[in-house]
Amino acid sequence: MLAPGGELDTASPLATAAMESLREYPEFVRELEEEAGESIDFRRAGAVEVAFSDAENDALERKSLRQAELGIHSESCLHAGFPARLYPDDAVVDPRDVTRALLTACRRRGVVIREHEQVLEISRDGRSVRTIKGDHGSEGVLIAAGAWSSALLPGLPRTIPVRGHLISWVMTPWLLGPILRHGHTYVLQRRSGILVAGASTERVGFDRTLDESAIDDIQSRAIWLLPELGLQPPSERWNGFRPDIEAECPAVGKVPGTSVWTAFGHYRNGILLAPETARRIAKMLT
Ligand SMILES: Cc1cc2nc3c(=O)[nH]c(=O)nc-3n(C[C@H](O)[C@H](O)[C@H](O)COP(=O)(O)OP(=O)(O)OC[C@H]3O[C@@H](n4cnc5c(N)ncnc54)[C@H](O)[C@@H]3O)c2cc1C
Repeated sequence: MLAPGGELDTASPLATAAMESLREYPEFVRELEEEAGESIDFRRAGAVEVAFSDAENDALERKSLRQAELGIHSESCLHAGFPARLYPDDAVVDPRDVTRALLTACRRRGVVIREHEQVLEISRDGRSVRTIKGDHGSEGVLIAAGAWSSALLPGLPRTIPVRGHLISWVMTPWLLGPILRHGHTYVLQRRSGILVAGASTERVGFDRTLDESAIDDIQSRAIWLLPELGLQPPSERWNGFRPDIEAECPAVGKVPGTSVWTAFGHYRNGILLAPETARRIAKMLT
């Protein structure tokens, strides 16, 4: 989801960057598709947040007033007879498409990508890197290792992995228009018809085990929102680590006095924040 509407309601550097990034997304996707020659599933689908009680509706209305100050537009609407808010500017993008297209575009520009070569150590000045395959001299290092980032160099703001599960179903395309959400539950549909539901929020360290109870919980919350999902079992279940950070906003910048740059700590919004983070880092590097 590229969803400031569902995710943000207080002024912060992160909220500013998120709004900027959402504005940049259409052009980012267009450029990337052109350079990679690959299609990216990106759609300004909007999002509908449903209220199932008067108290929830009041809370949604209060939130929308705070959001209006951040430039997040929303309107009252109805969903299945319940009051709801429509966020017309929220969007969906398939992060697997984006990552694949970035790999192709980078390779076409001559970037050498060494996959499965874990970095073990970075020198304090950023002039050398040790990986599982050996030592490399470098002109500089950009640390963008998500929840693993702070372990790579002493003194960085601490990153904390926050595990989240997702599940998906193969459904008829266009079953769902906008993202549908209620509290911590959301469902969205890809162009292919794949319908994704999330999510859980678990502080369990770097444990990648699938938690059946978390998955069952998401499944029943998703079926409550979209009863059609109860007609067949999910086709995929997976989890990942959101990179939370002990700081007010993601660490995007230069470590003073070194040739080390950082771009990590994007927590729940790293896909949304990708274009703006890239723009800021590129500006600093060039
Ligand atoms: C369930 C769930 C739902 C989410 N939903 C959304 C959403 O709707 N919208 C949104 O914007 N964001 C969402 N996020 C958050 C988003 O996925 C993250 O913010 C984003 O992936 C962070 O990107 P990153 O590149 O910083 O880190 P990552 O995506 O974690 O990538 C870090 C990479 O660094 C590699 N790495 C780590 N250590 C080393 C090392 N020592 N050497 C070499 N490589 C290393 C890792 O293997 C990994 O490939 C969600 C996350 C989860 C878990």
